[in-house]
Amino acid sequence: MTAAEPAASRYEAVIGIEIHCQLKTVSKMFCGCSTEIDGAAPNSHCCPVCLGLPGVLPTINKKAVEFVIATGFAIEAKVATTTRWDRKNYFYPDLPKGYQISQYQLPLAAEGRLTFDTSDGPFTVCVRRAHLEEDTGRLIHAELDGRRVSLIDFNRSGMPLMEIVTEPDIRTAEQARRYAEELRLLMQTIGASDAEMENGQMRVEANVSIRPRGQEAFGTRVEVKNMNSMRAVERAIAFEIERQTVAVDAGEKIHMETRGWDEARQSTYHMRPKEEENDYRYFPEPDLPPLLTSPEWLAEIKARLPELPSARRRRYRDEQGLSAYDADVLVNDATAAALFEGAVAADPAVPPKLLANWVTGEYMRLAKGGEGSGAAAVDPAELAALVELVVDGSISGTNAKEVFAEHFATGRGVSSIVKARGFEQISDAGALGTAIDTVLAANPAAVADYRAGKAEVLGFLVGQVMKATRGQANAGMVQNALRERLDKAE
Ligand code: ADP
Ligand code: MG
Ligand code: ZN
Repeated sequence: MTAAEPAASRYEAVIGIEIHCQLKTVSKMFCGCSTEIDGAAPNSHCCPVCLGLPGVLPTINKKAVEFVIATGFAIEAKVATTTRWDRKNYFYPDLPKGYQISQYQLPLAAEGRLTFDTSDGPFTVCVRRAHLEEDTGRLIHAELDGRRVSLIDFNRSGMPLMEIVTEPDIRTAEQARRYAEELRLLMQTIGASDAEMENGQMRVEANVSIRPRGQEAFGTRVEVKNMNSMRAVERAIAFEIERQTVAVDAGEKIHMETRGWDEARQSTYHMRPKEEENDYRYFPEPDLPPLLTSPEWLAEIKARLPELPSARRRRYRDEQGLSAYDADVLVNDATAAALFEGAVAADPAVPPKLLANWVTGEYMRLAKGGEGSGAAAVDPAELAALVELVVDGSISGTNAKEVFAEHFATGRGVSSIVKARGFEQISDAGALGTAIDTVLAANPAAVADYRAGKAEVLGFLVGQVMKATRGQANAGMVQNALRERLDKAE
């Protein structure tokens, strides 16, 4: 190992990810307050429990527990039969009780894993644990009458949060982003969380360290937070690996610290030294009994799980013959996937691969452009009927796109659009023969060229017939008929 080698090849990054997801429950974690806090007036969704007033008692939100258990099953984790609540003590103005109710020694789920694709092939990350806890309030630093003040909004206080922590298995910034993306898709599929990073429903924190290649012991880790998009997760980790590499190369020591991602500067900055575990003085929550999960309840939750993204990708590929790429595009877009499934069900005679092409192509292009009344107007059965018309040669591919665009915009039935626009393809030999005669008479030079052995002229002549019939001729029939006529001795 010499200093002349590029730093990237001398060091290896070690990354562990902690993700907090806001769970999609109707009420908060330990009280009856509504979770509909988006856009609500500050401190309008609070009660004595989530304000941490003395003398109150928490009650457990069953749905939140079920979401964590469902996540546990989805990542093939061990789900606890006995779990417990613990107090995590610290003082901060957004935490009115002075502690957060969390799970420490006995998380609801442990030892799971998640497999996903990367540009280097499939990669599996071991998940250490998934547990349940409550969110804090929100501090707003503002200026009021020329004074700098800190305001507190307790609406978020007591919102249910699931924390999912990986083992330090990840080695690249791309793997970390892909892990977070796959977990987000999983949360949305299960319905546990909307998991949108932009509004804080999903918060990704990365623990990053580097070590000389070949060394087994981990280096000192730095925690990076405040990334509010998947792209930011990847950039922040890549930046941090580079920063640590340069520092270690220069003989500096890495300190345990929490750093923030500065989107404008595209760099991380020091926020605070990292707390030690024992600073939190965890102890069992005395106001809540241990939580027991019966085998029947667990079985029920497991049975309710929807088809998971990995299984769906596999089904699309192996049973419906889609490419890995198309399968992935569909699995990542719930509306598109529903349209595809609906069209396949509506007409099993149409090859699913063709339907997938229309959904990932024309449908997604129009949906992205927000044209017309859009996604909602598209009827899976109409899409299947349209593709069937293309397959049996009743309508040209070009005209089919126009029909689909009108159906997308108005919801009008495919056969009625085809009739109204006069798109029914001309497959009648007599009608085609007339068009062909006209074209041959008008292009004697091309005819001579063809007969002199320039076979490629045929494409030009087919094009002329298509033009003469405003695209309505059956191109296959035209080609055959032309060839027959031209090959015939004069
Ligand atoms: P805390 O929650 O106190 O930050 P944890 O022990 O729960 O600490 O670990 C948090 C995350 O850091 C986990 O995802 C873990 O895999 C990861 N991690 C632990 N040690 C390292 C390290 N040396 N380098 C990178 N990540 C690490
Ligand atoms: Mg942690
Ligand atoms: Zn409340």
